[in-house]
Amino acid sequence: MGSDGEEIPGISRRAFLATGVTGLLTVGGLALGAGSAQATERPPFVDCAGWGARPPSRPLTVHQRRPVRILVHHTATPNGNDPSPQAAAGFAQSVQSFHMDQRGWADTGQHFTISRSGFVMEGRHRSLELLDGGKAVVEGSHCTGQNVVAIGIENEGTYSTVDPPAALWDRLRQTCAFICARYGINPHEIAGHRDFKNTACPGDRLYGLLPVLRDEVAGLLGRRVEGKGAARASWPLLRAGDTGPNVLAAQLLLRAAGIAEAAPTGRFDPATDRAVRAFQARTAAEEVNGLLGGESWPVLATAATRNPGAPDVREAVRVLVEARPGPVPAEPDLPTWQCLLGTGGTQPDPVVDPPR
Ligand SMILES: [Zn+2]
Repeated sequence: MGSDGEEIPGISRRAFLATGVTGLLTVGGLALGAGSAQATERPPFVDCAGWGARPPSRPLTVHQRRPVRILVHHTATPNGNDPSPQAAAGFAQSVQSFHMDQRGWADTGQHFTISRSGFVMEGRHRSLELLDGGKAVVEGSHCTGQNVVAIGIENEGTYSTVDPPAALWDRLRQTCAFICARYGINPHEIAGHRDFKNTACPGDRLYGLLPVLRDEVAGLLGRRVEGKGAARASWPLLRAGDTGPNVLAAQLLLRAAGIAEAAPTGRFDPATDRAVRAFQARTAAEEVNGLLGGESWPVLATAATRNPGAPDVREAVRVLVEARPGPVPAEPDLPTWQCLLGTGGTQPDPVVDPPR
């Protein structure tokens, strides 16, 4: 999708001034793609002053290092259709107020915000200036463990059952390409929030489009997607109402991990929800929410790798091999579990935030 979407004109200074917001708008320019001779177009960013941001409530932390990936989020807010710059600015303001006043964060959590109409706005102060410099990053608050190593992009809307509009999609891939070029990030390292946390973010539909996004960003950078292409190893997100072999395997692995509630039914029923919550509580997951995603799966699979001969672990392997026929691994490691679960692919760089 989005290959020939309608081009959104750059936000105009006059339009922003009409909202009573003053400040300079950043104008477009060109940056050379890292490792590529092709020029990468600079998106028409609207900086914090341009959309009327409040100042941060406390000093922000800048790290003298390049981030290594991009995390895609959705804001889980209504899918509005007001294309005006005032609506985009108002949206960025509402997100910032929510993050500062409700979450208690110093500033907007993510580095960039893209409106449904395709305006790309600076999120946390200094994100844009540091991106242009290409050597440092301001620490965000968009995904614990990833706030320094990953640039967070919030996409306005909810993409659980609908695709993002073309204007947003085109701006997202252009922005990702520019970020990849400035920081030397491999487009393969574009991931979703759920790849690292037990969350539905960025919605099933937008998450399902990430392989396309990696492909299209690579194309904008003049790179070829090779080998396994845009497939990035991750974990399946399982939640109430799901059925099938992955659910059955999860139930078996939860039981192998000592969670007695996990009866192997193949249906993510209320007992499974309780089992996942019990596992999350026991393993100190950031949130106890009953979603089995990118935070809890590695912990669960690690427990299984420590006890490969346990009957429930062997049964989980059998169930998954039956569903996706292949060789039966005797002692699966984490990448093997990802392949068994149908989410294997090229492994991401094993980088985490430095200690604070
Ligand atoms: Zn998110």
